[in-house]
Parts: sequence; structure tokens; C-alpha cells
Amino acid sequence: MTQSVQQSSKNTESRPVVIGAGPAGLTAADALVERGITPIVFEADKIVGGIARTEEYKGYHFDMGGHRFFSKSARVNALWRKWMGDDMQTRERLSRIFYEGKYFHYPLKPFNALRGLGLIESAKVGASYSRWTLFPSKKEDTFEDWVTNRFGRRLFRTFFKSYTEKVWGIPTDQLAAEWAAQRIKNLSLRSAIASAFIKPKQTITSLIEQFLYPPRGPGQMWRTVKSRVEAGGGSVHLESPIVGIERDGFRVLAVKVRRPDGQIVRQPTDRVIASLPLKQAIECMDPAPPADVLAAAKDLKYRDFLTVCLIVKREQLFPDNWIYIHDPHVEVGRIQNFGNWSPDMVPAKGMSSLGMEYFCNEGDDLWTSADADLIAQATGELRKIGLVEKGDVVDGCVFRVPKSYPVYDSTYKQSLKTLQGYLDQFENFVMIGRNGLHRYNNQDHAMLTGLFAVENLYDDAGHDIWSVNAEQEYHEETDHSEKTSQSADEGTRDAA
Ligand SMILES: Cc1cc2nc3c(=O)[nH]c(=O)nc-3n(C[C@H](O)[C@H](O)[C@H](O)COP(=O)(O)OP(=O)(O)OC[C@H]3O[C@@H](n4cnc5c(N)ncnc54)[C@H](O)[C@@H]3O)c2cc1C
Repeated sequence: MTQSVQQSSKNTESRPVVIGAGPAGLTAADALVERGITPIVFEADKIVGGIARTEEYKGYHFDMGGHRFFSKSARVNALWRKWMGDDMQTRERLSRIFYEGKYFHYPLKPFNALRGLGLIESAKVGASYSRWTLFPSKKEDTFEDWVTNRFGRRLFRTFFKSYTEKVWGIPTDQLAAEWAAQRIKNLSLRSAIASAFIKPKQTITSLIEQFLYPPRGPGQMWRTVKSRVEAGGGSVHLESPIVGIERDGFRVLAVKVRRPDGQIVRQPTDRVIASLPLKQAIECMDPAPPADVLAAAKDLKYRDFLTVCLIVKREQLFPDNWIYIHDPHVEVGRIQNFGNWSPDMVPAKGMSSLGMEYFCNEGDDLWTSADADLIAQATGELRKIGLVEKGDVVDGCVFRVPKSYPVYDSTYKQSLKTLQGYLDQFENFVMIGRNGLHRYNNQDHAMLTGLFAVENLYDDAGHDIWSVNAEQEYHEETDHSEKTSQSADEGTRDAA
């Protein structure tokens, strides 16, 4: 079906377009407004924040995934302070692993782990660790190889395998080692145990015990930034997905937007900063890019998740911010306890609200299940784990988060190289963010890419945006240079 395309009525050709009002897009838009430039932001969803949005139901606030705010970037920290002022709270982290009916602290605490595993199993774990430390596997291509070399086979099977397979839906011997290398980084059994006794010199993100958090979740921050952009003369259009990117060679002339009434509107522009998924950006270019570029885009894959939010008529269900569920007899991967992230997330006294997180693929059985069925399944699993009793769950709702994880499989790197080579030739079009760069970026990385995009387009700053959170220097050092960035991960086992 062909649809008529309307021309944007106002004289807006010289205004930059920002695609997506998640952390990357809104940070870019805010930086533009700071320069007196008024961007037009187009967002597909009905609320801002992207994957870091906060959903609301009957006064309860639900963070999609649980977002810790932690960054090594002085620039990012300064922005958080500027936007949120004294509203930003410092929170303590408690997260445990539920495995074989027992709770283990994560990060691991030696005595707690010893008690949970028992003396004999702990001795076996120790022996396995020694064996793999002394004789590591030479081949380190997969997640399984990578973790086994650092933790031993036995600990890998206990604390990494089942959860990681829930998250990714593929066996750990088919998951690229790079994913572990990026998320687990310099964490090893030795550093995990050592950190229980001595303060590590370097910040290892997986072990972060304190983090910042807005009282009503990350969405509160992103709504604040949206208001700043609008107050500065920018506009943020919700429910307005970009469906076409019109180009002349390596110059973008206009974007095509589907407005809430279904009309397709052509918006001419002189610069575009884009945080929509890379695959989608390439596929909606008009004219279409060369065949090898299209094939590379087609090769990119994603993993999705949904949160079943349950309202429970009990206070203080458990002390954790979240619990990893390793038990293979239930499908749930992680349980968030939002009142422990911030009391303001729960509006009523004597109540709790939980986020039961299920990792899935868009369109699979779980994804397409009716909300009522998902609520019933989550309630049943919560009882099976032993966290609630019959009648405790009084209400629920479901939120689906598509493309929450860019997948690192055996071909993505080559595809990304092709796409980067193509996109780097554009003079006025820059991709940013997590799915925009197909990189496992946290909010702070996404924000930096937004800032760098503005500086590249307006100051010719020459930042290598693709290397944010990719180059060693971006994620290993704890210094306060502008180039360095580290953040709380959803990460290590927080994601896997
Ligand atoms: C489970 C989980 C836990 C996490 N935990 C943490 C954490 O603890 N700390 C942390 O810092 N980060 C965490 N993250 C990462 C964080 O969510 C991301 O880094 C951040 O949301 C990325 O921002 P972004 O703007 O790049 O992308 P997104 O958040 O994906 O935003 C992109 C926006 O573009 C919009 N869009 C897509 N297509 C179109 C289109 N065609 N037209 C217009 N708009 C479009 C989307 O609707 C979305 O709003 C976590 C992520 C997950 C999945």
C-alpha cells in the first residue's frame, strides 16, 4: 500500500533531527539546546527513557531492568547532578543468587558461599579452580571457555551456566567470549574473594556496592531532560517512529515520520543524530544502501525481555534490590524488588511491588503469551520459590522490552565492521547509543555517545564514537578524564 507523504509545514530544514528519546538521544538533544540549537526529537514510544524508562501502573513505578547509576565519567556524573540536583539518592546494593533452594550473596562472599555450598562442594570448587588456573584452555572463543579459565569448571556450572542460558536462550558454548570479556572484565575468583577482605584498587563494576538512583526511577531523570529540551526551544514528538531516512549519497536530506494519526510526514533536516537500532536505520534508508551493507544489517540479532510486575500485599518481602534465579525449574531469570531500589516506587504502605524478569525473543511463546497467563505463571513461580503465599499477589501488569540486548554472536563483529565503514562516510548523519552502535552500552556510555555526536557534527571534534565502551581505555581505568567511562552494568551476571 502506498501512503501519501506530507511535507513538514514549518520552515524547519535547518533544525537537527534526533531519532529516539532514550538516554543517548535525550542527552544529545540537551547538549544541542545548551548551545542554543533547537532539535526536533522523534520517539517511537509513548514515553521517554527507552530501555531505561520507568513504567507506571496504579501509582506504582516499575524500572525496566533495574538501572543502577554509576559512572567513571566525570562528565556524565556532572550531568546527573545538574539534572537531578539533591533528588539523586545514594542506594546500597544487595543482590543474591537463588540456587538449589539457597541464597548466595552476589558479589560472592567467601563464608556465605562456603556455608551455602558445604565443605565438600567448596573443596571441589577450589580443586577445579586450581586445575583451570594451572592448565587453562588455550582456546578461549566462547563464554564457557572464558569463564571456566577464570573461575574453574565447577563454579562456572554452579553460578554462570544456567542463568546465562536463561538470559541468552543459547548454550554458553555458543556465546562469544567477548560478551563475558566486556561485562565481567577483570573480575576473577581471586578478585571477587579478595574484595571481600580488602578494598580493590580498581573499581570492578560487577562488585559495585553503592549506586545513585532517582527516587522514582530512571524515567524521572529522562522526563526531566525532556522538559529541559522543550524549555530550551526543542521539541519532543512521542509515538512518532522514523520510517524512512532519505539520502543523497552520503548526505541525509530528510527523515520520514509516522505521526500518531498514521500520516507519514517528511521532515527535511541538515543533521541527524540517530539512536534507533542500527539494523532498522540501514533498512529504512532511501535509496537503499549497497547489498553487502544491507546483508550486514540483516545479520544483527537481538535478545528481548519482558517484566511481569506483581503487586503484593506484604511489606519487606526480602532485603535484596534483586535476586538472580538460577533454579532451572522456573523460567523467571531475575526478580526486582522496587521498594528496595527506592521507597518512592511503591505508593502504598504495607505493599511491595516486584518485577519478574523473563528473557525471551520477540514473537516467541513467552513474548506472545496473554498478559493474564504471564501474571498467573509469575505468581505461581514466586510461590514455588517460596517468596509469597497464596493470596499475597493482588494485582499485576506486563511490560515488554524489545531489543534489550544486542547479541554478540560469531558474525556480528564482521557485520559491524561493514556497517561502520559505510556509515563513517556520511557527512551529516551519526549513529549513537546502545542499539544504534550495537554495543552493550549502559546509560553513561549511551550519554557519552550523544555528547560526542554533537561535538563531531558541530565542532568537527573527531571523536571515535564506535570506541566508547569498546576500547580498553574506556572501561578499565578509574580516572576522571573525559575519555574514560565505566558504569554499573546490568552486567556480568546482572545481565547474564
Ligand atoms: C535488563 C537491563 C538492565 C540494565 N541495567 C542498567 C544499569 O543498571 N545501569 C545502566 O546505566 N544501564 C543499564 N542498562 C542499559 C540501559 O538501559 C541502556 O544503556 C540505555 O537505555 C541505552 O540508551 P539509548 O538511548 O542508547 O537506547 P534506548 O534506551 O534503546 O533508546 C532508544 C530509543 O529510540 C526509540 N526508537 C527506536 N526506534 C525508533 C524509530 N524508528 N523512531 C523513533 N524512535 C525510535 C526507542 O523507542 C527508544 O526510546 C540496562 C539494560 C537492560 C536491558
